[in-house]
Amino acid sequence: MSNFDFDLFVIGAGSGGVRAARKAAGEGVKVGIAEEKELGGTCVNVGCVPKKLMVYAASYPQQVKNAQGFGWNASVGEFDWAAFIQKKNTEILRLNGIYENLLDNTGVTLFKAKAKLIKANTLQVGDKIITAKRILIAVGGKPFVPDFNGKELCITSDDVFFLQEQPKQILVVGGGYIAVEFAGIFKGMGSKVDVLCRKNRVLNGFDDSTVEFLMGQMQEQGIDIMFENCIQKIETVGNKKQVLFKDGQSRSYDQILLATGRTSAVDNLGLKDMGIELNKTNAIVVDNNYQTNIKDVYAIGDVIGKVQLTPVAIKEAMGLIAYWYKGADSAQIDYADIPTAVFCQPNIGTVGLTQAQAEQDFDVQVYESNFRPMSNTISGDTSRMYMKLIVEKSSQKVLGWHMCGQDAGEMLQGFAVAIKMGATKHDFDAVIGIHPTAAEEWVTLN
Ligand code: NDP
Repeated sequence: MSNFDFDLFVIGAGSGGVRAARKAAGEGVKVGIAEEKELGGTCVNVGCVPKKLMVYAASYPQQVKNAQGFGWNASVGEFDWAAFIQKKNTEILRLNGIYENLLDNTGVTLFKAKAKLIKANTLQVGDKIITAKRILIAVGGKPFVPDFNGKELCITSDDVFFLQEQPKQILVVGGGYIAVEFAGIFKGMGSKVDVLCRKNRVLNGFDDSTVEFLMGQMQEQGIDIMFENCIQKIETVGNKKQVLFKDGQSRSYDQILLATGRTSAVDNLGLKDMGIELNKTNAIVVDNNYQTNIKDVYAIGDVIGKVQLTPVAIKEAMGLIAYWYKGADSAQIDYADIPTAVFCQPNIGTVGLTQAQAEQDFDVQVYESNFRPMSNTISGDTSRMYMKLIVEKSSQKVLGWHMCGQDAGEMLQGFAVAIKMGATKHDFDAVIGIHPTAAEEWVTLN
């Protein structure tokens, strides 16, 4: 019998925290979890899920245009933003309920309260003092807001899902995942969209020519990407927000969305008083077993700032469960070849090395294809597809897979299995294509 109130206490009921809590409870240990907001964390409430619902909502005008191309007498009509937001909220509430049931059904004790570390193996949870053999911090992240004149007039991805009205003119600041995804969402919904990028490209760190292709497609859709520029100040003028840019031009918007990165949500957790080490970006520093510099205190997910993706947080939770309860030597997960999709328009799917990364260490062959998919031939949709395979010359091993085109994420998942298994270009070539599909291009690249 443990002397502690709980064997494991998890702070934060997002993707990683809930997975760790319920799997630990499934191993027969006593588990508590604290969450001060809605269950499900960023992914469910202000991230992946509502974003993807918005991506779907935004896709209909183009689908209707495509239908016209195929002979349908169809028209788009008006988008009812308020009705969509209400339906989205209902769906998120349903998912919040599922998360609560998952915890309930596995016997995890849920505290709907703020938790704070106060001393070794001890937390304050709401107005209770609770002890735990192990503490897992899985509090996630929050939007990073840069400092400039008028920043309080902007919104972040925490707000964009709850706007009362669809902004007719929107400025998206940043060039990362969130920026390009929301640029596509609002453009699809019919808003006028400008993107403000401090560098000369979006999606830094992604494959150069894939990003080049994406930027061309975004510009063709009418998205104005302003490069190497930044905000000098923002003022309210009438019911608009007027932005003065560094290059001297001034433009007015209904909303300005800051998508300038995310930072760990480590405020008011008692970390400083406990002496828990943070790195220079405020992420919690952990060892190979996700333990902080303080014994029995662990951290996973966005708060450790390693890879800010839901499935990674879930895998890290599973790594800990295997290590704590199933005799695994280490909790560390394999971070190599993590596939990722960006739900911009068209989507990007990517796994492995970019061409620039590959060329640093390998002699490579690059295979590319840029084509109009069959679905767009008579629809009138001008969007194209770009595919790129990076192969090590000597071994023929596929080092990188990059795509910009419709359903890239869906297409990537299966290829990611092959690449994780070490597939070569010969393996790709040995597979018979499925005709007529866009995906068959992957096995006929030459
Ligand atoms: P990202 O780190 O992807 O991008 C941040 C962007 O903001 C970069 O373009 C960066 O520019 C720019 N930026 C940073 N600071 C400033 C500043 N002071 N002024 C102007 N621009 C600035 O962050 P996101 O917020 O888009 O997303 C956070 C993370 O969430 C992602 O990295 C990803 O891991 C995850 N995510 C995943 C999604 C998915 O799986 N589909 C969807 C959404 C988010 P620069 O490149 O020049 O540094």
